[in-house]
Amino acid sequence: MTENSDHDHSQRKLIIAIDGPAGAGKSTIASRLARKLGYVNLESGAMYRALALKAIEEDASFDDEAALVKLAQESRIQLEPTMGGNRTLLNGHDVSARIRERDVTEAASRVSVHPGVRAWMVARQREMGVGGGVVMEGRDIGTKVFPDADLKVFLDADPVVREQRRMEQQKIKGEVAANVAADLRERDHRDRTRAVSPLLAAEDAVVIDSTKMSEDEVLAQVEELASRKLRHSVVRSIP
Ligand code: C5P
Repeated sequence: MTENSDHDHSQRKLIIAIDGPAGAGKSTIASRLARKLGYVNLESGAMYRALALKAIEEDASFDDEAALVKLAQESRIQLEPTMGGNRTLLNGHDVSARIRERDVTEAASRVSVHPGVRAWMVARQREMGVGGGVVMEGRDIGTKVFPDADLKVFLDADPVVREQRRMEQQKIKGEVAANVAADLRERDHRDRTRAVSPLLAAEDAVVIDSTKMSEDEVLAQVEELASRKLRHSVVRSIP
């Protein structure tokens, strides 16, 4: 049990899926929840971002599915959970900061529309989470990566509030802020309308609208859901 955890998670290692649009607060909630439970927090978006960075570096077209799948197969994309948050490694190099930049953000949204890219990502993500004890966040974790996840949360918020939060997070104003808002809207649209695995809540997901909630309130609700699962769910057998 971790220092700040009051959960008895002795034998049960849940798979917790947190999906939702950009700016809904998934990353913060997922990492805080993982810390409380002593679980690993895996940000699936960072993997799409790492591939997008590779495509930028190699000057590959974001529309060339075959080339992107090949790049993915040839790259070593690793998520390394640390106390200070997740580190993302691309072929051994720490690209955690670089993948948050605007060009990579835009590219990640474009490379993620391809079925071949998604199939590769989903397979890797399943390998990483299969043993349980993970809080995985993304867009399709509850629908595609772990359709049998123990707990599925779909975290949403009003688009205007999501844009504001993103701007506050990045401490930006003025013209740059307007760009961020426009980018977020465009990414959202692409995520929701793509043919394969569009962003949507799994039928059995608990939908939380965080528009009028504080981060602590959302965390408390998700923690309560996880505690209930830990108390009542069938013990997951881990090989
Ligand atoms: O979550 P994050 O904003 O880092 O994700 C970057 C991009 O990767 C998203 O805009 C989305 O298009 C894509 N993504 C996805 N499926 C996931 C996670 C991210 O399509 N599970």
